[in-house]
Formats: sequence, C-alpha cells, structure tokens
Amino acid sequence: MTGADATILSRRGALGAGTAALVSAVMPAAAAAKPRRAAPPASVDVLILGAGMAGLHAARMLEQAGLSVQVIEGSDRIGGRCWTASDVPGRPELGASQIGPGYGRVRGNAADLGVELVLPPRGALSETASFSAAFSIGGAPPTSDWANSPMNRLAPGEKALTPFKLLGHYLLKDDPLVDPEDWQKPEFRHIDVMSLRDYLLSKGASPEAIRLLEVGTPGWTLDTASALDTLRKNHYYVWEGKNGPYHVVRDGMDALTTAMARSLKRPIPLGKIVAAIDAGPKSVRITCRDGSVHSGRMAISTIPLSVMKDIPIRGAVPADERAAWNRQRYYKTVYVMLKIKSNFWEKDGLPPTMWTDGPIETFAYFPSLVPPYGSLVAITNGAASGHLDALSPAALGRLVIDELVRLRPAAAGQVEVAKIHNWSTYPFSKGHIGYFGPGDLCRYGDIVGKPVGALYFAGEHLCRVHAGIEGACESAENAVIALLDRLGSA
Ligand SMILES: Cc1cc2nc3c(=O)[nH]c(=O)nc-3n(C[C@H](O)[C@H](O)[C@H](O)COP(=O)(O)OP(=O)(O)OC[C@H]3O[C@@H](n4cnc5c(N)ncnc54)[C@H](O)[C@@H]3O)c2cc1C
Repeated sequence: MTGADATILSRRGALGAGTAALVSAVMPAAAAAKPRRAAPPASVDVLILGAGMAGLHAARMLEQAGLSVQVIEGSDRIGGRCWTASDVPGRPELGASQIGPGYGRVRGNAADLGVELVLPPRGALSETASFSAAFSIGGAPPTSDWANSPMNRLAPGEKALTPFKLLGHYLLKDDPLVDPEDWQKPEFRHIDVMSLRDYLLSKGASPEAIRLLEVGTPGWTLDTASALDTLRKNHYYVWEGKNGPYHVVRDGMDALTTAMARSLKRPIPLGKIVAAIDAGPKSVRITCRDGSVHSGRMAISTIPLSVMKDIPIRGAVPADERAAWNRQRYYKTVYVMLKIKSNFWEKDGLPPTMWTDGPIETFAYFPSLVPPYGSLVAITNGAASGHLDALSPAALGRLVIDELVRLRPAAAGQVEVAKIHNWSTYPFSKGHIGYFGPGDLCRYGDIVGKPVGALYFAGEHLCRVHAGIEGACESAENAVIALLDRLGSA
C-alpha cells in the first residue's frame, strides 16, 4: 500500500468508523498472522514516545493488531495538547476542544470508549461560526458595533469583517483548493513560496487589515508562514465545518485521552523524558533523563519536532530530514485563565469576548457546560506573546487584569487569575501547533516524517489531509500502516 493509498483509505474509511473497524481495514492480514522472526532483545514490539492524541491512537491500533505496545510519557500527565484545566472553575480547555463533524477517528475512539460528546454550550467561540464580541483599537473604549465604529479603519469593502473574520475571508477568496488533499498537487507549489503577507496582499487586503492580522496571527509574523500551509488548514476546517456542528467532550478532553490510556494493556509511565534515541534497523533503544532504558523492535515518536530536534539520535537521520526538523516552526500562544466572580459584562452591556490590538490580544469567554461558571481566557498570539515570555507569572497576571479593567472598568474586582499556561515555553511542545515557512511545506513536507531505521514518526505536524487532533490521529494511522507493512514483509 502506498502512502497516498493509505491516506485516502484511512480518511474515507475512517469517517464514522470505530478504531477496531479501521485496524481491520488497513492491516495486512499477513502482518498480524506472520510468526515473528528472532529480533534483538526487546521488551515490546512497539515503543511509543508521547501520550498525546497521536501516541494514544497509534497504541490502540497496534494493540488491536495484536502487537505488544508500551507508551512512555515525559510530562506528569496524559493527553499532551489535549488538556482540561480541571482546577479552574468552568473547566476550560487549555488545548484542543472542538471535535469537528468529520473527525471520524476521534469520534470513533470516543464511541468505542463510551466517552460522551455534546454540542458546545451556547455562545461558545467557533472557528467557523459567528459569535458576538467587543473590539478595542489603540486602547479606545471597546464597542460591539465594529462595522460602524470610528476605530474601524479597514477599507470600505472590509468594514463589515471583524478582526476574527479577516483571515478566513481572504483565505477563502478564490480559494484554489477543492479537496483538502489538493495542496499536494504540483500546480499549487507557487503558493507555498509566498509568505502569508504576500498572499493576503495579492487578494486585496488593505494595510490596516494586514496590521490587524499581524496582531492575531499565531505565528511569529505574517512573513514566517507559508501561504499554502495556512490555506490548506483553513480549507480543511471550512470543508469540515460544512458537515454539521462541532462537538466537545462533556467531561472535558482529559476524559477522552484518559479513557484511551486506560484502554491499553500496559499502564503508561509518566516522567519518562526521552533524552537519547538509538535508532537501529531492527530495534530502537530509548534512554530517559531519569536513567531508565526502554526498547522496542520498532518505535513511533510523537514528540513535537520543536522538542525532538534537540534530542540526540544515534542512527542515520538524513541531512535533509534534519534540515526539515529545524525548519518546522511552531505557533506562539499564551493563555491566562481568569476566574469570573460576577458577569461584569451585564453591567457595561458589551459581550464578554473582546478583541484588542493591545498587549493582550483577546479576552475570550468560554461558557461552561458546568453552570454557573464560565471562564474568561486572555489569549495572546504571535509576536505579542514573545514579549510576555519574559514576564514573571505574577507580572503577567497583573498586566492581563490591568488591561482588562482599563478597557472595561466594570471588571474591576470581578476577575482573578486562575491559571497561566504559555504554550511557547512549555517544555513538552514548545509551541501551539506546527507550521511551515514560505517554500518549506513542499520542500520538506514529504521528508519531515521519514522513518529512521526502526523509528517511525507521528504527530499533528505530520498530518497531510486533516488538522488538529484528527490530524494527529491521521498521522498515527499512517505510521501504523507503514510499520505494519514493514512487519508484514519482514
Ligand atoms: C490552544 C490550543 C487549542 C487547540 N484547539 C484545537 C481544537 O479545538 N481542535 C483540534 O482538533 N485541535 C486543536 N488543537 C491542536 C491539537 O491540540 C493538537 O493538534 C493535538 O493535540 C496534537 O497531538 P499530538 O499527539 O500530535 O501531540 P501532543 O499532544 O503534543 O503529544 C506529544 C506528547 O509527547 C510528550 N513529550 C514531549 N517531549 C517529550 C520527551 N522528551 N519525552 C517524552 N515525552 C515527550 C508530550 O508531553 C505529549 O504528551 C489545539 C491546540 C492548542 C495548543
């Protein structure tokens, strides 16, 4: 089975299917049945590095294929970038929350494990739907009438677009992609070499639109992102969103990843920070920072490349693959979660969610499935978040509250900092999600995840068709298929 066949089979076959059905669809029968040849001493067939969505999905598939699997995790928790802030009232999500209608793999895991998915609470933010918000530019008092506000200095044809909608508007304008996998066609390579800024300018974005987009872009600047990489992810979410509403996990994303982990035969040890990898042709040996050694006939690393690129690897990592790892970039995002003591927005009459071009970009309100609490999360992306990295948690918390109260005096005394999470400095992902710079998607996209000896790779940065947690599962499936193919022909 070629990689392309596998991708198409897995994407189409996965919609609505459970994991067990999927394994039997993709697994060569010979691979499962074939007696294993004598391999170098190894504790398990497959060692999986990282217990995020990709690692957990891969582990479940491999166990269902009859292989022995051990997942190890470096942090002190399961789930990676799926992370419910259970210690904050309202239990907001620090990472993934939205489960799209076509997330067949994620939904299949939830259905298999009895994890309940529900519609998001009313008023939740959405990547594709409209929601109400207030806007403040240059520190002026916020307004919810963005289209008619003197703060709105967008070009006449843009005035009705809020800063949340600008990017999607220009990415959808004459969108050349039809199917989510179209970006891989050679005729779109010229868009990869364009920076996002140049692409938006070519679609007619005004200087003020570019300025506002620069504030909101989760990348470092509009110049560091490939237009094609951004286009393909936007295209996927829009294509996906046409199939119905998104869902959330009723008890928080942690409920899903915990259930996936518990369904595995071997418990997942935590605190196993991979410090060195010896990737031979017939086995992989991992040394962790605590001195423990783990080995498998094969391994799948789901460690984000932002971390992986600094882990010493003994084995033939081709120079172009190394270069690809170094070229993979990661979005910057800082979350400051605020506990709300009263619905202060009922006093000033504005929606609780507010977008600003100030030092703290967005105050996003997340209504909760657990009444009476919702939570307000200050989200800062891109270049502005870099300036926050240097602040102590106390100084960052003060800045967020001061900024909110300065713009919305009704919030004085009504919020307090509940939790701070900086995805950019978090040592187990060093960023929010992966993306490529101009020219790098086509140049390195096929190289970045090539196996090194018996070491395979998965993780959201390797998805070809989907994105987010469904993309993480897609990448896991592609690694599992390749690994099973190899075992079948060994
Ligand atoms: C703020 C935010 C919001 C998001 N919202 C959505 C959304 O609504 N919908 C959606 O579909 N997607 C969303 N995403 C993206 C989604 O969370 C990710 O695509 C997905 O969770 C990535 O899964 P993964 O398994 O590839 O990586 P990870 O979840 O990062 O898993 C990698 C694992 O490896 C571990 N690890 C790292 N280094 C080491 C080491 N040295 N040794 C051992 N273990 C190590 C990590 O601790 C982690 O558990 C969001 C992401 C963020 C950050």
